[in-house]
Amino acid sequence: MSNIPPVDLAQQYKTIEAEINAAVLSVLASGRYIGGNLVESFEQQFASYTGVSECVACNSGTDALYLALRSLGIKSQDQVITTPFTFIATAEVISAVGATPVFIDIDPETFNLDLKQLEAAITSKTKAIIPVHLFGQPVDMTRLMAIANAHNLAVIEDCAQATGAEWAGRKVGSIGHIGCFSFFPTKNLGACGDGGAVTTNDRAIATQIRRLREHGTSSRYYHEATGINSRLDSLQAAIVQIKLRYLDTWNAQRSEIATRYQDLLSPIPGIILPQASIGGKSVWNQFTIRVISKETEAPRDKVRSQMQEKGVISMVYYPLPLHLQPVYQGLGYKIGSLPAAEQACREVLSLPIFPELSIEQQQQVVYALKESLTVDS
Ligand SMILES: *Cc1c(COP(=O)(O)O)cnc(C)c1O
Repeated sequence: MSNIPPVDLAQQYKTIEAEINAAVLSVLASGRYIGGNLVESFEQQFASYTGVSECVACNSGTDALYLALRSLGIKSQDQVITTPFTFIATAEVISAVGATPVFIDIDPETFNLDLKQLEAAITSKTKAIIPVHLFGQPVDMTRLMAIANAHNLAVIEDCAQATGAEWAGRKVGSIGHIGCFSFFPTKNLGACGDGGAVTTNDRAIATQIRRLREHGTSSRYYHEATGINSRLDSLQAAIVQIKLRYLDTWNAQRSEIATRYQDLLSPIPGIILPQASIGGKSVWNQFTIRVISKETEAPRDKVRSQMQEKGVISMVYYPLPLHLQPVYQGLGYKIGSLPAAEQACREVLSLPIFPELSIEQQQQVVYALKESLTVDS
């Protein structure tokens, strides 16, 4: 049996090869590589998919978050509350605009922000909250918006891992004031390179983000603000436009795979499975189990390397929470400050999940996991 990778992007390409090739060749032949109709039509399609009036495409999910913060005027002295259990980009952009990230702990069941701890973290300097719909599982946006509105705070949803996910019947990215998406190749809607988008129902915010992504320009060579260069190029727009038509099918396949994992893995001791549905609709960017740690040891890494010997590549997202990263030493957090996030970092293991994963491959993953757990105990 051949190795099972965590994702298989080449296999996905094969399923839509003819369409992608034709679209790419037509962009190459057009001589129009930046901006243009393809970017505009993608923005319209993505706005309508997400259920918002405005979409601004940009160069990455990181830039989407950065532009969102800039459009709200968030700057030095301001605080932005977010989760320590996410990819660095979520907090990095807060620092990039000169503001301070404030981390609150996670809910161990969902791996998302623990909303019970949110209000206590709000100060007079708090300007915004960035919830992350981690691994594709939506945050309880009803509760989060109620708290944010009561304190007059902006909400920027980090939807990088959750394109197509829903909370209370609404797509993520349409519930907060701004939604930020990544089209990094391994996300649910992935380009063949970098890409991202911002969604909002606020026209003024969209206009400001359009200006900032293009050097602070609304009229060429006249600059009203210090912007950046963050455009989605036409080739990537052509590609994500095609892939958007398949996204719901791919997300449904991910969901089937997740359900099958639940069935195949449910009676196994030593691990905790992600909840199938804790409100909302997950799009399963990751299927992340916990390998329960004991008082003196965390067996996760051993399980991972034993699985690898059996040809199954699992991943650790994330091994170190953001509040303990060297870059954030100055913020004053210590080991033990945010225990649920720290425990997650010791225990999480993401199993291969991608729409094309076959039943046979999944059985191989389950077999490798079971064997690796037995060896360990
Ligand atoms: C991938 C990711 C980002 C950044 O997106 P890029 O397109 O890689 O810049 C931000 N936040 C989260 C949670 C992510 O997973």
